[in-house]
Amino acid sequence: MRRVRCQRCGHMFSLSREAVIAALEELREKDLEYYTFECPRCRHVVKVPRADLERMAPRS
Ligand SMILES: [Zn+2]
Repeated sequence: MRRVRCQRCGHMFSLSREAVIAALEELREKDLEYYTFECPRCRHVVKVPRADLERMAPRS
């Protein structure tokens, strides 16, 4: 499940496969532990840990 929950408004939104792959690529490049997405409802920044993204990523 590629679902992320906004900590501010509780809105659940799903990430596309492409978004997860792009996020992981950027994290690897910059060596970061979190990727930030913007909540589509309230614009709050939602942090998603790298480990979660790796779990969401399709197996290759
Ligand atoms: Zn929100």
